[in-house]
Amino acid sequence: MLNIVLMGPPGAGKGTHALWIAKDYGLPHISTGDMFREAMASGSELGNQIKAIVNSGGLVSDELTCALVKERLSRIDCENGYLLDGFPRTIAQAEALKTFGKEINREVNTVMNISCPDEQLIERIAGRRVCPKCGASYNVTFMPPKKKEGICDECGTPIVQRKDDNAESFKVRLANYYKSTAPLMEFYKGEGLLADFDGSIGAADLKKALVAFLEAHK
Ligand code: ADP
Ligand code: ZN
Repeated sequence: MLNIVLMGPPGAGKGTHALWIAKDYGLPHISTGDMFREAMASGSELGNQIKAIVNSGGLVSDELTCALVKERLSRIDCENGYLLDGFPRTIAQAEALKTFGKEINREVNTVMNISCPDEQLIERIAGRRVCPKCGASYNVTFMPPKKKEGICDECGTPIVQRKDDNAESFKVRLANYYKSTAPLMEFYKGEGLLADFDGSIGAADLKKALVAFLEAHK
């Protein structure tokens, strides 16, 4: 069984690879970023509460985020595995996940970390476009849609730039990554769960490496 945490800096390729991993291994894809963006788009109370934080690149509170993830992981579709993308992002979240994971029988058993140098992340984020409907990611320079310019290959929806994919917010996200999220590598190394992947190689090569790992660990 695969109870996966997928981690890495913004722009490393988590979202891109999460989509096929979830599909090919039949795992629910749980992206806290997607959950927050959905809440913002729906105009719910939660959405309005977090809008300013998310758009500026800040982190939503551990309390709110953990409550959301605990509820989601408790659902029956996570019984035979899951793929967490973008959570945990702080040591407090990782500790909480460890505790409630035991409680609800959803303990993490695999952590895949995708690393990538800053210069590349900045380039990728600047050109990133996403499908607001299915979550597929593209890049105007490196990975444009194959079928029609500006249109999602998967579902035909016009792709858009995320509000937080600007230079200013990206700087905040990267700083938060190094300060709050990167320490998780040591945390999960200590748990004996960490597997490292080089995200600077092309998406196709990285996919090969991830498949080899997943086949050996499923
Ligand atoms: P990326 O990995 O490209 O930065 P995500 O889609 O994972 O983007 O997250 C987008 C935003 O949602 C984050 O910048 C943050 O504001 C919020 N967010 C997502 N996950 C978390 C989390 N686990 N804890 C706190 N905030 C989060
Ligand atoms: Zn789409």
